[in-house]
Amino acid sequence: MRLDKLLANMGYGSRKEVKQLLKQKAVTVDGDYVKDAALHVDPEKQIVSVFGERVVYTEFVYFIMNKPPGVISATEDLRDETVIDLLEPLHQHFQPFPVGRLDKDTEGLLLLTNDGQLAHNLLSPKKHVPKVYYAQIEGVVTEEDAEKFANGVELDDGYVTKPGKLVILKSAQQSEIELTIQEGKFHQVKRMFEAVGKRVTYLKRISMGSLKLDENLALGEYRELTAEELNGLQ
Ligand code: URA
Repeated sequence: MRLDKLLANMGYGSRKEVKQLLKQKAVTVDGDYVKDAALHVDPEKQIVSVFGERVVYTEFVYFIMNKPPGVISATEDLRDETVIDLLEPLHQHFQPFPVGRLDKDTEGLLLLTNDGQLAHNLLSPKKHVPKVYYAQIEGVVTEEDAEKFANGVELDDGYVTKPGKLVILKSAQQSEIELTIQEGKFHQVKRMFEAVGKRVTYLKRISMGSLKLDENLALGEYRELTAEELNGLQ
């Protein structure tokens, strides 16, 4: 990896700022001062230091975000702001991507990482990772709906969902529910309610496997996963 990219990734500023550091003779590789930003270094084998302090290289990053509505869960979009745009430039350097998609109007738990293997494991249909959603529903949600979800409902394209666990928090003209599903079909929660003649008016993901939405994160905020949270997902 290029030295300037490594240092920019590790938080030592933009590539331009890193060049300044190199000019100032602040950077050593295996003890020798280096000024060449394009120098290729192997951060696992060589010791890179800035002002005498060793740069500890991390390859993977893991962020938990409380996704706000109005933002696309993709790495780029021609029209709309994406969840990646909400990350600090330093974190964008690691090229994280969202693990699974939430609709533009859906809020809540989103994991962002550049660890493809972890993402694959969490998204693989074979792993049955449960995802829990809180939703507000137009229409009276009943135990009959819960039973239908438990048996699997047929979506508009003929697909029959795997069993979902529906917990009714409030059964009224505007109902509130928690739904646990182990799949991630396009618009799945909204389409499951459509299948029983009801409409989702608000949707928020509250957990994915062992990872729970951190209620201390305001909409649009994110933080790194703790070691414990990461272990729980691996
Ligand atoms: N199901 C939906 O309908 N939308 C989401 O964003 C996530 C699950």
